[in-house]
Amino acid sequence: MTGKRKNRCSFCGRSEDEVALLLTGMNGYICDECVRQAEKIVKENLGSEVNLKAGSVAGLNMAELPKPHDIKAFLDQYVIGQDSAKRYLSVAVYNHYKRLAQMVDDDGVEIEKSNIIMVGPTGTGKTLLARTIAKQLKVPFTIVDATIFTEAGYVGEDVESILTRLLQVADYDVSATERGIVFIDEIDKIARKQDNPSITRDVSGEGVQQGLLKLLEGSIVNVPPKGGRKHPDQDYIHVNTRNILFICGGAFDGIERKIAQRLNTHVVGYESVQNQQRIDTKNLMKYIVPQDLKSFGLIPEIIGRLPVLTYLNPLDRDALRRILTEPKNSLVKQQIKLFAMDGIKLIFEEEALDFIVDKADEYKLGARGLRAIMESIMIDAQYNAPSGQDKVLTITREYAEQQIEKNERMKE
Ligand code: ADP
Repeated sequence: MTGKRKNRCSFCGRSEDEVALLLTGMNGYICDECVRQAEKIVKENLGSEVNLKAGSVAGLNMAELPKPHDIKAFLDQYVIGQDSAKRYLSVAVYNHYKRLAQMVDDDGVEIEKSNIIMVGPTGTGKTLLARTIAKQLKVPFTIVDATIFTEAGYVGEDVESILTRLLQVADYDVSATERGIVFIDEIDKIARKQDNPSITRDVSGEGVQQGLLKLLEGSIVNVPPKGGRKHPDQDYIHVNTRNILFICGGAFDGIERKIAQRLNTHVVGYESVQNQQRIDTKNLMKYIVPQDLKSFGLIPEIIGRLPVLTYLNPLDRDALRRILTEPKNSLVKQQIKLFAMDGIKLIFEEEALDFIVDKADEYKLGARGLRAIMESIMIDAQYNAPSGQDKVLTITREYAEQQIEKNERMKE
């Protein structure tokens, strides 16, 4: 008895029941597995050409690139205030585009990479800025926390695992990974401890900074595809970090003292007294220079690889109030959308919003507090309104106060 002859993949020979999908061509077949393999081989061999055709940055014409003003305008849609940081970021990103574009017509002058370091209190928008920039660039983006890294030989992750995450976000597309953005949060936590830099081994300090250096400066790094610790018989993926933009952020608690010290030591004598008068002592952060990062405990080599230094301001009441309503996906807009999906028109009275700001101010959680307060006020309405009859819901200050009081009581 002869059954119907099975179709087989013309590349690997497996029959149609052995594969998930078999595509038919003019004179043969190909299975899904071989298609994947083939794609990989094409990418490895023609990586940059394929990208150019796909309209990557390197293939763009300078005139089409978003200018710093355009980049800042985009950031303005999502991030309130922080003008100085936005300007620095916009220029750095514009130069990053130029760097990518320059490889097409190489004339011997190489534009150096402009990795960025943002200093400012927690919850003021550092991560949000980095995330928004990545959205605009349409490149893979990942956030890593510097505190999880330790020196080789200790418990923790190797710095290379930063790139593992970027690879994962890029679906293991190496050429996309090589143009990605990495946000390294809490970079201040790996500062060298001031007291005894060399006597004890500094597990989370200088060794990690040394490890980071090679990623920041641009080199080919062996990346363990699954992350974690490297081990000798693992296959590595080679990733070139030359065009990966690193944005670092940290609160650098207490750095104002270093800034003040520096400003004071520079200002001795008559002329300096005059200078001192011009110094805005309430906002010392705006005088930050790379030297202050060094005094804080970052090694000079790292500072050298983070040439763009900018700062973020603490958020005042006015900024918090604007954050509630103005960003493109502000908390208020999100709530209105949630209710609109149930056919309910949600209205926030101005005084209710003022109250949310009062509470956030009281909790000292900055913008991070706004969300928790909003949720606490809206939980009952979100629970009841979809089953109710009312088509309009107005949140007044009294209602907001009652809800917060009720939830605070419940937690006690
Ligand atoms: P950090 O500076 O610690 O990285 P984040 O960027 O993570 O702070 O901010 C936490 C949250 O607070 C953000 O997701 C965002 O909702 C809000 N937020 C903080 N700063 C701003 C800002 N300047 N404009 C708009 N929203 C902000």
